[in-house]
Order: sequence, then C-alpha cells, then structure tokens
Amino acid sequence: MTVQDITVVRSVAEVRKYRQAWSHEGLKVGFVATMGFLHAGHQSLIRESLAENDRTIVSIFVNPSQFAPGEDLDAYPRNLEHDLQVLKETATTDGHGVSLVFAPTVTEMYPSGIPLDVDAQKGAFVSVKGLSEPLEGRTRPLFFRGVATVVSKLFNIVQPDNTYFGQKDVQQTVVLRRMIKDLFIPVKFHLCPIVRNDSGLALSSRNAYLSDEVQKRATVLYRSLSQAESSYTKGQLDANKLIELVKTQIAKEAPEFKPDYVAINDRDDLRYLAEIDPAKGCIISLAYYVPNDLQDSKKGTTRLIDNCIFPPMH
Ligand code: AMP
Repeated sequence: MTVQDITVVRSVAEVRKYRQAWSHEGLKVGFVATMGFLHAGHQSLIRESLAENDRTIVSIFVNPSQFAPGEDLDAYPRNLEHDLQVLKETATTDGHGVSLVFAPTVTEMYPSGIPLDVDAQKGAFVSVKGLSEPLEGRTRPLFFRGVATVVSKLFNIVQPDNTYFGQKDVQQTVVLRRMIKDLFIPVKFHLCPIVRNDSGLALSSRNAYLSDEVQKRATVLYRSLSQAESSYTKGQLDANKLIELVKTQIAKEAPEFKPDYVAINDRDDLRYLAEIDPAKGCIISLAYYVPNDLQDSKKGTTRLIDNCIFPPMH
C-alpha cells in the first residue's frame, strides 16, 4: 500500500526486501520505533533520522508484551491515517521524507502468540537485568522486558545503521543502550531531547486522555523539575531535598495528582542517589497519576512521566 508516497508494509519479508535493496546501493538507514498516534515528539526523532540517513524506516506497533493485564492496551489511541498525515508533514521541503512505514500485525511480531499473562507466554524474550527493576519497573515489573523484546525484534528486522529514541522515556534509553552493548547489536543509538508544548507539558500520545484543564494543570510537572534543576545548579546536592521540592510544588498546585515516584538516579546504572556528585550529574524523574477530568472521576486516571537530566557541573 502506498499512501501519499509513503510505503506502508505489514510483513517482515517486505521490510527485508527494501532493506536488502538499500544495502546493495550502499545507503545508510535510520530507524524510529513508535506506538503510533504520532505527534511533534515523534517528528523530532524522525527529523534527526532524515538528516543523518539516506533512508528512514518508522515502525508503528502497539506492543502487547509491554502492557500488563489491566493497563490501557485496548484503549491506547491508534489511527494510521492520522499517522501517515503527520509523517507526510515531517518531510523536508525538498521532499526528503520517511521511506517506509512498518505497521505489523501482532501475529507477525509474535508468531507464538502473546497472552498478557506472563505465565502463559511462549517463545523468546529479552530481559535487561539491573536496569529494568527501579523507577518504572517498580510499578511495571515486566514493562522493560516487553520493550527490550520488541525493540530487539525490530532491530533484527530493520537492521538499521542508526536508531533514535526520546529522552521522554529516559529509563528506556538506558535499558536499550545496555541491551545494544551487551548483545553486540550493530546499531548506533541516538538520544533526542524531550519535545514539550508551549506550556512545558511533555508531549505524549496519552495526553489525548486528558481534558484541556488537566493538561494545563499538568504543566506543573515540568515546572517542578525545572525548579529542582535551578536549585541543583545553585549547589543543592541533597537528593531528598530536591525530591521534596518537586513533591511540595506539585501537591500545592495540583492536589488531585498522586505521586507514583519522584526519584534521583545515576545516569548510567540508575542507582538511587542520596547525594548528587556534581561531576557526574544525575537523572531526576517522576511518575504521577493524573485524573483525566477534574469534574468526572469516572473518566479514570492517566499515569504521566517526565524527567530532567542534570548536567555535570565543573
Ligand atoms: P512511543 O510511541 O510513546 O512508544 O514513543 C516512540 C518514541 O518517541 C520513543 O523513543 C519516545 O521516547 C519518543 N517520544 C515520545 N514522546 C516524546 C517527546 N515528547 N519528546 C521526544 N521524544 C518523544
């Protein structure tokens, strides 16, 4: 299927056919993995890939194995037409755009099937021990097993020279970098900055669940992280004090938001830090449960994440 000059393929065999042809031509291939419902955050990754590669492949796949039973797998927004329109708008003015969209079925990616109940799963899975358990892993213990598994499948299918992931999911970038290193996967990893809306809210496909009022209120997440960063640059190195600063500001401005965690960790091994080494910097990250609608509790809650990497200070 070709929509507005973007070729969409569903099978592994078709991706391989394109990839082989490009290899024969000596072309460099960039790859961006997504779950679709594309926004400007995804576009920034794709633009980096377009600038640095001859061909760019984007995958769109809502990966069941990273969702636990009871999470939002079924509700997760999916809209291929919307995504193709966004991709078309991502092309440069001279027409250099995404060469291939890989939008596989679940069966194509998981030939042995993929029940959400982990005890019933069969087949090969990838775990990155030691980095998957803290932070997101405390609430979502099998999340990074799902991510590492699907990304290794995608790397094996696409065989990219370069791949682009967003700092928005900072723990994911640490986990995947280690996977690439430990499994000797021949791809160069690129970390791309967080794209935010004008008020500072980090763009996310899940923001679609939130009312306008909640989206406005959720900007406190970023403002609280920025306040912690400015306190750090003024010399505050006590992690608990910085965490308290963040929690207090959010509790004051958005008492309806419930913290899952606010944490300060080492940038490489995700160790929880009590004191920041200014020569190394750190990651400060948070996850909050946010009501989708302040007036209607039946509309449920969304778990938002955000983070800031504090640079080393010399
Ligand atoms: P997702 O579709 O949520 O799985 O995201 C696909 C990729 O886009 C991941 O590498 C994300 O980190 C990245 N991404 C998502 N939102 C943003 C954002 N606001 N800024 C930068 N990258 C993002």
